[in-house]
Amino acid sequence: MAQTPFSVEDVLERNRNYATTAHKAFPPLAAIFGGDIKANSPKVVIVSCMDPRAVPHDVLALKPMEAFCLTNMSGRIKPALNDIASLDSVFNLEQVVIMHHSNCGSTHGTIDQFRHDLKANCPELSSLELEDVVQHSAIRRDEDRELKADLQLLRECKFIRKELTEGAVALWLDVNTGLAREVNLAAESKV
Ligand SMILES: [Zn+2]
Repeated sequence: MAQTPFSVEDVLERNRNYATTAHKAFPPLAAIFGGDIKANSPKVVIVSCMDPRAVPHDVLALKPMEAFCLTNMSGRIKPALNDIASLDSVFNLEQVVIMHHSNCGSTHGTIDQFRHDLKANCPELSSLELEDVVQHSAIRRDEDRELKADLQLLRECKFIRKELTEGAVALWLDVNTGLAREVNLAAESKV
C-alpha cells in the first residue's frame, strides 16, 4: 500500500506519548464557567479562516475565553450558520463576527477549475447537484465582496435570532500589515 501523509499508527503512537506526558484531565465545563454555562461562557463567536496566519485570538489579541472561533476554508458564513444557532442554544451568544483575510488560500483557485475538478472526480453528480456544490464553494476573490455577501446572508438567516443577525459585524484582515478594518454593507468593495 502506498505511503499516506497521515499514518494512523504513527498518530496514535504520538497520542499515547501526549497522554502519558502532557495531558491533564479537562475540568467539567460547569466548573470552568462558575456553575452557569449560559451566563459565564464566551458571548462572541468569530467565524474565520482556518489559515494559521489569521488566528482570531492572535490577530485580535483576544483572551482565551473571550470568544468562540469557528474556522473553515476562507471563513465563509454558510457552513457556520447551523453551528452559530447551536452555540447560541447552549451558550447564549450576544455577538457574531465574520473575519476574512487578504491573500487567502481560497483566492488561489477559480470557480471554473473547481467545477472542472468536480466533473472529473465525481462524474455521477447531476448538473443540478454539481452547481449546488459550486455555488457554495469557499473559493473567492481577494477582496471584501464575498465578506459583504456573507454578512448579508447572515442578516437574512431565518434560524438565528434577530439580535445576532442584525448586530453581526464583518472584519477584513490585511495579512501584510496585520491590521483589521470593519466592512459595512453599503461601502465600496476593496482589498
Ligand atoms: Zn484564508
